[in-house]
Amino acid sequence: MRKTFTTRKVSLATLLSLLVSVSVISTLLILTISTYHSNKESLTSTYLALNFSKAKKMSHSVDSLFISMRTHLKSTAEFLEDHEEMTDPEIQEQLELLRVSSGYFNSLSWVDETGVIRVNSPGGIGLQGTKITSGVTKDVLDARVPMLTKPYVGPSNQLLVLMSQPIYSNNGTYRGMIGGTIYLQKENALNQILDNEASDTSGSHYYVVGPNGILLFHPQSQRIGENFYEHSLVRKIAEGKSGTEIAENAIGVSMLSAYSYVPEAGWGIVQQTPYSFVENLLLTELRQLLMKVLVPFLFLLLLSILIARKLAAPFNRLGTLVNRLAEGKPIFQSEKEVLTEAHWNREADLLTKSVGLAFETIEKNNLQLTQSAQTDSLTGLLNRRNLDEVLSIWSAESRLFSLLVLDIDHFKSVNDTYGHQVGDKVLKMMAETLCTVVRKNDVCFRYGGEEFVILLPHTDSQSAYNVAEKIRGKVEKTNYIPNKTITVSIGISEYPAQTNSVTEIFGFADSALFTSKVAGRNRITIYSS
Ligand code: GH3
Ligand code: MG
Ligand code: MG
Repeated sequence: MRKTFTTRKVSLATLLSLLVSVSVISTLLILTISTYHSNKESLTSTYLALNFSKAKKMSHSVDSLFISMRTHLKSTAEFLEDHEEMTDPEIQEQLELLRVSSGYFNSLSWVDETGVIRVNSPGGIGLQGTKITSGVTKDVLDARVPMLTKPYVGPSNQLLVLMSQPIYSNNGTYRGMIGGTIYLQKENALNQILDNEASDTSGSHYYVVGPNGILLFHPQSQRIGENFYEHSLVRKIAEGKSGTEIAENAIGVSMLSAYSYVPEAGWGIVQQTPYSFVENLLLTELRQLLMKVLVPFLFLLLLSILIARKLAAPFNRLGTLVNRLAEGKPIFQSEKEVLTEAHWNREADLLTKSVGLAFETIEKNNLQLTQSAQTDSLTGLLNRRNLDEVLSIWSAESRLFSLLVLDIDHFKSVNDTYGHQVGDKVLKMMAETLCTVVRKNDVCFRYGGEEFVILLPHTDSQSAYNVAEKIRGKVEKTNYIPNKTITVSIGISEYPAQTNSVTEIFGFADSALFTSKVAGRNRITIYSS
């Protein structure tokens, strides 16, 4: 069974517009998403690389600083070794010179092999002469090798590292060591390097961790001393590695981090940028991109919709036309114009031409059908149905007219004597006779058999009589059949003088015709009651 769809049908214009809109919008989406992703990748790798290079540079500076500190400390130690005769005040002067000129150390001291602080710079601290018996300084003294300690909290409750250089006399006896303190939260050469642009507006910053994961430097100085060892990248630094990674920091914020190992100290520099900064940059870029492309895209969308509607228009109009035809509605000339239009779209052009051809054929067939339905095939005159139509139109207009009913006399005998074919020929010729005699506005009908009706508009019965007489005379004189005279009898009635009923008007004329027949045929009678 055929299923009938009652759902609303979507028009071609809507479909095309939808298609175009979907394409344009998805193109915009794809462009946005791909731009977002490629920018995200490039920004991420750029920031990671940038951070790595900063961390490396910083670790290089710190490393060089430690090497330089070591060199200075070593040459001072060597100077003391070479000048064993130097007095304590002279040594004090040497240490003072190193401390002030280099700015590397916050304090310098010479501790002899017994642990007594012999010389201290700056001198005013009052440590001179005290003996060290335990603690980091004691361990370093006993180690008798150059050392850089892990950060530790000193007597003044501050975080510091100690760099030591042993002193040996010419015969190889151990004479103690020179130790330089570097306070991590105090002014010194190290802090000058670290403090430099520790953080910027992007939220990028760096921090420094010691070998045991202790935070040695951080832009928020109160955090110095915290233990960062749990951090994956801090553990990597502890293994002497350098690299980059995207990782969450202590408070769960995602960071683009780069870390670089400082070999001389065993420290690590971590340079990082919050991931949110890159995301904000991306969003700003996207917003700018959208601002730039939105107007052209909207324009493109509108243009495409316009073109889609234009493309669909001929199909739409053809569809409406064919639909009206199918529903049997009248089609106006203006609507038919669509059939003569040329289109740049091949399909529309082809379809228009095809529908045009189909229309022409249908109209021709229709015309033929109407004509054959309306005219009498033998004589070519209008038929009885037309008579009814014309009568109803004229009566509606209250038009004055006369009606003639004409009957061939003794026609049966014509058929009987000469045959039906001759009879038909006579009927045809009779029609021609009528047509030649009547005026342009008069209308002739074949009513049926050998009976004809003539309508004479704006003609009263007297004038109609004259026309009828002309007809009668002409018929009598015409040689329809050689040596045979054909005559006609005619009855006349007048509208609306005699009746204003169209059914009656024919009856009146017919009864007048009957009178003519009875009176001897070949004559004319005007109806009278
Ligand atoms: P009347 O003078 O009283 O009119 O006599 P009539 O013989 O003409 O009248 P009747 O009604 O008796 O005969 C009409 C004849 O017309 C009968 C029929 O054979 C003939 N006829 C009707 N239609 C046609 C036609 O189309 N062709 C031919 N050849 N004859 C027709
Ligand atoms: Mg008859
Ligand atoms: Mg007759």
